[in-house]
Amino acid sequence: MSYEEYYTWQEDVPGFGKAAQEKLKNCTALVSRVGGLGGPLAFSLAAAGVGRIILAHGGELRPDDLNRQILMTHDGLGKLRHEQATETLRRFNPDIEVESVGENVSEDNAADLVGKADLVFSCAPLFEERLLMNREAMRQGKFFVDGAMCSMEGHVLAVRPGESTCLSCLVKEPPAYWNRRFPVIGAVSAMVAQIAALEGIKLVTGFAEPALDHLIHVDTVAMRMKKVKLLRDPDCPYCSNFAS
Ligand SMILES: [Zn+2]
Repeated sequence: MSYEEYYTWQEDVPGFGKAAQEKLKNCTALVSRVGGLGGPLAFSLAAAGVGRIILAHGGELRPDDLNRQILMTHDGLGKLRHEQATETLRRFNPDIEVESVGENVSEDNAADLVGKADLVFSCAPLFEERLLMNREAMRQGKFFVDGAMCSMEGHVLAVRPGESTCLSCLVKEPPAYWNRRFPVIGAVSAMVAQIAALEGIKLVTGFAEPALDHLIHVDTVAMRMKKVKLLRDPDCPYCSNFAS
């Protein structure tokens, strides 16, 4: 069957059309971690028709994952998360390819995983992974979007490598205060995911301009979203030296 009808409603968005859809079809996106943020993000990429999605996530599903990890199901408790996420996306949209990797991004695999992608989504809870993906994306000249949240706040940063402020311009080292465990309501992580997905779709298709050189900040207590202007670090070892 033809899947063309799947995408007609988004092709109607001004500036989108079949040209942007074709760019999504030809895009490979890497999503690092498919938990509360990466899961809903990957779902939206699948719905939008991103042609190939690579999911990287280690570990099995635990009961306390299920308030936010919406690619998983109760039946999957104790089973590998990356396999469940892959199955969910394949069932949702058979028009796309989904590849999954049963480990988190690390020094051992980052260069290879980023090398396979055109667009890299960093959805990891740890700064070490986020900075590693940023470094590889800048080094290899790949579009990069970092999404992060804690409690009722979220941040998104979109980067066009070599042209705009990268994550390492802002954060030099993983902060000592950061704990692996932090408060999450699934609706907040899912909302931050959708902003990140949209910024990535803009980067790849060019149908609209992402908020480059700005940190998008969302406060879901006050229900306020703002863009914070960033200054690129001219001495940043990643975005200034690798990709220029
Ligand atoms: Zn930088």
